Amino acid sequence: MEVYKFGGASVKGADAVKHVARILAKEQGPKVLVFSAMGKTTNALEALLNAFYRHETNRADLFKKLMADHIDIFQALFTPETACYVYVQQLLKERFEQLYQRLLEAAALPFDQAYDSIVSYGERLSTLLIGHYLQEQGLPVELIDAATLIRTDSRYREAGVLWEPTVRQIRAQVLPLLEQGKWVLTQGFIGGDDQGHTTTLGREGSDYSAAILAHGIDARQMTIWKDVPGVLNADPKYFANTCKLAHISYSDATELAYFGASVIHPKTIKPLQNKHIPLYVRSFIQPDEPGTWVGLDHVEYTVMPSYIFKPNQILLSVYPKDFSFIEEIGLARIFELLARHGMKVNLMQNSALSFSLCLDAGKGSFADLVAALSSEFDCVYNEGVDLVTIRHYTQEVIDQIVNGRAILLEQRTRHTVQLVVGGRKA
Ligand code: ASP
Ligand code: MG
Repeated sequence: MEVYKFGGASVKGADAVKHVARILAKEQGPKVLVFSAMGKTTNALEALLNAFYRHETNRADLFKKLMADHIDIFQALFTPETACYVYVQQLLKERFEQLYQRLLEAAALPFDQAYDSIVSYGERLSTLLIGHYLQEQGLPVELIDAATLIRTDSRYREAGVLWEPTVRQIRAQVLPLLEQGKWVLTQGFIGGDDQGHTTTLGREGSDYSAAILAHGIDARQMTIWKDVPGVLNADPKYFANTCKLAHISYSDATELAYFGASVIHPKTIKPLQNKHIPLYVRSFIQPDEPGTWVGLDHVEYTVMPSYIFKPNQILLSVYPKDFSFIEEIGLARIFELLARHGMKVNLMQNSALSFSLCLDAGKGSFADLVAALSSEFDCVYNEGVDLVTIRHYTQEVIDQIVNGRAILLEQRTRHTVQLVVGGRKA
């Protein structure tokens, strides 16, 4: 038993779906298939929700565009001669009517709850089309709604998984089908809470969904199919000469993902590591290539420096106003304010008289945080800095990456060096 996860890029249109079907047609053995929304559908749904929430005039156009895109894919996947044509067409129509109704009701709900109820349609639409298409191709696919499998709390947009009921549901619903030789197809990214509402696990959360399912069924392995050859040692957006890592450890994968490598969602590794389930990251463009294998740390492999840029950071330093030491009570106060203002901390360092933090600029309210801190502390900050994380560093690699930029803060452990560096040279 294994789990395959296909992201939005792998199913961005009818040709892409047909390509995935061809990859799957060569496969044998029971599987769980997890799909994201098609292409950029999640972004389109976010825009649609905002337009309805704020009564913007373009809302009907955005809705029509999303519907037309899905109808085009439907028309390209199914011809009127296919047995399920009328049935799938009807389901698609009902889904869009339901979505429209929910959009009309959205403004009456708290925003985050409305978000999950609307944005989850991306995955529900993709699995509707892909599931029936794969069945039509003769694959033994059964669709299960992920909201009944992945049980969560009600923290909309960043729901926490309730592991015990989730594993129970997966075993009760998925295992019997796999034992009959069926392939279970479900949505990534979405879950359900006890009030019967759909929740989501955070943007790009489908990798995490797949890992939860792999954990639940004690999968032999899990594969994420991507549009890159595997996990690269650096983001090709920022570096020329990247190379693919053949083997990396669970810890390497987690550190890289946590500090910004977008190839795997950071929460993905834990459910796999806890059961020693290996993860493969492979290319759907070159499905015969081996990709990257992520597994147990003690296995021998060649260690290669990997580096990640996390742009859009703020370096904040906090000083007590009366020249006193920063002690535990002061730290507790700072952390309380960070949590209250929804800030994401990526790195910290303290001295006797100061405490420095590297924060995501895009999360929480930095201005409110500084206002709240300012009654007790002096605050100094640099905006627009980058956090560079280098795993398995060498001095040569550090010099090459820093490339003459100002290092504002540095932290080293045995395997990782992290640097907060000032603005990039033009
Ligand atoms: N469709 C969701 C997103 O784009 C989840 C995912 O792709 O993993 O964020
Ligand atoms: Mg995605």
